[in-house]
Amino acid sequence: MGATPVRWVMTGKGQPLVRMPIDALSPGPDEVLIEIAGCGVCRTDLSFYYDQVPTRHALPLALGHEISGHVVEAGDNALWWVDRAVVVPALIPCGHCDACHHGRAAVCPNQKMPGNDIHGGFATHIVVPAHGLCEVDEERLAATGIELADLAVVADAATSSFQAVVETGVGEGDLVVVNGVGGVGGYAAQIAGTFGGTVVAIDINADKLRVVGSRCALTLNARGKTPAELKDAISAFAQARGLRQTGWIILECSGTQIGRDAAYHLVNQDGVFAVIGCSMDRPEIRHPNLLQFHARVIENQGCPPELYPQALELVLNGRVRVTEFVEKHHLDEINEVFTAAHAGALKRRAVLIPPDNGTAA
Ligand SMILES: [Zn+2]
Ligand SMILES: [Zn+2]
Repeated sequence: MGATPVRWVMTGKGQPLVRMPIDALSPGPDEVLIEIAGCGVCRTDLSFYYDQVPTRHALPLALGHEISGHVVEAGDNALWWVDRAVVVPALIPCGHCDACHHGRAAVCPNQKMPGNDIHGGFATHIVVPAHGLCEVDEERLAATGIELADLAVVADAATSSFQAVVETGVGEGDLVVVNGVGGVGGYAAQIAGTFGGTVVAIDINADKLRVVGSRCALTLNARGKTPAELKDAISAFAQARGLRQTGWIILECSGTQIGRDAAYHLVNQDGVFAVIGCSMDRPEIRHPNLLQFHARVIENQGCPPELYPQALELVLNGRVRVTEFVEKHHLDEINEVFTAAHAGALKRRAVLIPPDNGTAA
């Protein structure tokens, strides 16, 4: 296994994360041991660390649920995975309950989330169930120039977006509004486009709009604009393009209350409002409006493992770009990265790279 395995554990709310050696790491019969290439820092991690969101497993616990890496050891029932590159689903369902059998892994009552139910990916190594792992073809990956560490975002940010696009039924000719095009919405915007949606991207950050601009039909900077003004702008765009004035699909990815309230204002008749990502805010959802509009609200939790290969394929064939949305840091800088991410000071989603397991910029 090389150098001594370590993980960075959370010991209490806002307490510095602590580097700890890992003593014994041996996979059970249905588990694998993974040498981690990268682990993304998600808003959910920040909620565990800074807000009143408890982890299901008691502290101390390593956070991190956005993991890619290599399987270096496996139990007897999982030997096929040894030496393969993988993405670990952020929510690992059991695979044999009623929900799993009906393709509803998001609500599997036995699901395990790294960094919540079990030690997570801010570590050099992790043991996880083999069920649901997504294999990465490393030869194809090498041809793309994307690093395995970059694919950490496929574990959650890109796949949560993928599931939301599937569940909202985005198709040819749909007008899709993505509110917040950072570390989650950047993927939602691109993926919605691959499903045939005409995508309108909204953000208050001109830089983020510039990065997704070439993949979207319209970008709108919401700074200084009221929700009504945004709706008018989208409506005018729809009219110019011959798109519908009803049935808009709103993908809310801003993760802030003010952003979410603004996005909610865009819901129209026959529309869908889907929330991607966790937030502790209490959005104002006006039921009479939804009723009158015959609109739907969808909350989105993770992504079932069977959709991962399709999401990964979009990355490998270049239709969804990931590297522009990722910044890599050494795992040793985890405390500084958490502080910066919490302060909104990072330009992109941070992926932490363990020492000796890859390269960090
Ligand atoms: Zn997450
Ligand atoms: Zn299950």
